[in-house]
Amino acid sequence: MSCDQQYPVVVLGGGAAGIATSASLLKRLPKLPILIVEPNPYHYYQPGWTLVGGGVFQASKTRKKTADILPKGADWAQAKAIAINKDEKTVSLSDGRKLGYEQLVIALGLELRWEAIKGLDHYLGTEGITSNYAYEQAPYTFELIRSLKQGRALFTQPPMPIKCAGAPQKAMYLACSYWERARRSENIQVEFCHANDTLFGVSDYLPALLTYVRRYNIQLNAQHNLVAVDPLKKIAMFEDASEAGNLRQIEKNYDILHLCPPQGPPQIIQDSGLNDHHGWLKIDANTLQHLDDPDIFGLGDVIGTGNAKTAAAVRKQVPILVKNLLNHRANRPLSHNYQGYGSCPLTVEHGKIVLAEFGYNGKLQPSFPTWLLNGQSPTRAAWYLKTQVLPNVYWHLMLKGREWLTRN
Ligand code: FAD
Repeated sequence: MSCDQQYPVVVLGGGAAGIATSASLLKRLPKLPILIVEPNPYHYYQPGWTLVGGGVFQASKTRKKTADILPKGADWAQAKAIAINKDEKTVSLSDGRKLGYEQLVIALGLELRWEAIKGLDHYLGTEGITSNYAYEQAPYTFELIRSLKQGRALFTQPPMPIKCAGAPQKAMYLACSYWERARRSENIQVEFCHANDTLFGVSDYLPALLTYVRRYNIQLNAQHNLVAVDPLKKIAMFEDASEAGNLRQIEKNYDILHLCPPQGPPQIIQDSGLNDHHGWLKIDANTLQHLDDPDIFGLGDVIGTGNAKTAAAVRKQVPILVKNLLNHRANRPLSHNYQGYGSCPLTVEHGKIVLAEFGYNGKLQPSFPTWLLNGQSPTRAAWYLKTQVLPNVYWHLMLKGREWLTRN
C-alpha cells in the first residue's frame, strides 16, 4: 500500500463531533499527530439556527472560520473524503491525496436531501419557502414570520431519523409565539405536517407540547410526508398515510412553508462497506467502536445507534470515544460506555423551553435536579441555558477539549 501521508489518527469531518474529538484527543496527548479532513471553510453552531429563525440570534453568531476553531496541533486537509479503504487503512481525498491511518474517527454528519422534494430546486429562500436547516435561510424564516399578517403557515417534518428531531416544531412554536404577541394568532392558521405518527418520540414530553399545540390552535397532521412543492402556486404536496392501508396524495395551500428536508447517511459510508442495514455507520452503541473494524470509531449524526442526533449527544460521546480509542491504541479493553444521551431544547414560546433529555429507549436522563430545572415543563431556566450558556459551552469548552456537562 502506498499513500501520500500517514497519521496515527485521521478524523473525517470537522463539524461538532470531529473538532470536539480532535480537541479532546490533543488535550490528553498533545503530541499525537492528527489530521482533520473537512472541506468547508466555515464551521457552524447549528443549534443556534432555531434562534436565528425565531429572531433571537443573528446568523453571524452561529458561524466561525474553520481555520479559527481548529484545535492547536491538529493538521487540516481542506478536502472531501471520497473513499475509505478499511483493508488498506487509507482514505482518498478529493484533492487527489491518499492518507494512511492507524485509527480512523468518522464524524461526517448526515446528508440533507433537499432534492428529494420535487419542484423545490432553487426556490428555497424565496416565494415564502424557508428552512432553519440551512444557515442561509434561517434569517428568511424570521423575515417571513414578521411579515405574515394573515393566512396559512405550514411546518413540515420528514421521516425519522433526522438531526434534532424537535427542530421543525421549535420553528413553529417560536413563530406562533411571535404571532401571539403581535395579536395575529386569530388570522393565521398553523398546521404541522409530520411524516411520523407521533408529535415527539418520547412520550414524557407530550403533555407539555400538546398544551402549546392547543394554546396556538395548531392543526396536527400525522403521517403527512412532504414530497413536492409548486412554489409559484404556493401548493405543498403530501403523501398522506393517516388512513390505514390507504396512501393518498393531498395538496395544501400555504402562505409560508417552513420545511425540514429528508435526511440520510452519507453515501461514502455505504460505498466503503461500513454501513448497517439502514446505511448508517455500523457502530457499537456503547463503545462507539465500529462493529466490524476495531480501528474505526464513529460519533455524531453519522452513526446508526438509536440516540437523538444532537450536538448534546456529541458532547457526551466525545470523552467516551476518546478514552476507548486511546485504550484500544494501548491494547487495553474498552471500558467506557455511552448510554444514548441526547437533548432537545424545545423552544415552546419566546422565553421558555421544554428541555427534553433522554437516552436509549427514551429513558429520561436529566442533567439537573427537578427543583432546579424540570425538563418536562416549560421553564425560563432552560431558555437561559439554551440562549446564554450552551453556545458558550459549545465554542469555548466542547470545541476546546474541556469536557463540562459530559458525565454519564
Ligand atoms: P455536523 O456538525 O453536521 O458536521 C459534519 C461535518 O462533516 C461538516 O462540517 C461537513 O462539512 C463534514 N463533511 C461532510 N461530508 C464530508 C466529507 N465527505 N469529507 C469530509 N468532511 C465532510 N443539537 C442540539 O444538541 N441541540 C439543539 O438545540 C439542536 N438544534 C438544531 C437545530 C437545527 C436547525 C439543526 C440543523 C441542528 C440542530 N442540532 C441541535 C443538531 C446538531 O447541530 C447536530 O446533531 C450536530 O451538529 C452533529 O454533529 P456532527 O459533527 O455529527 O455533524
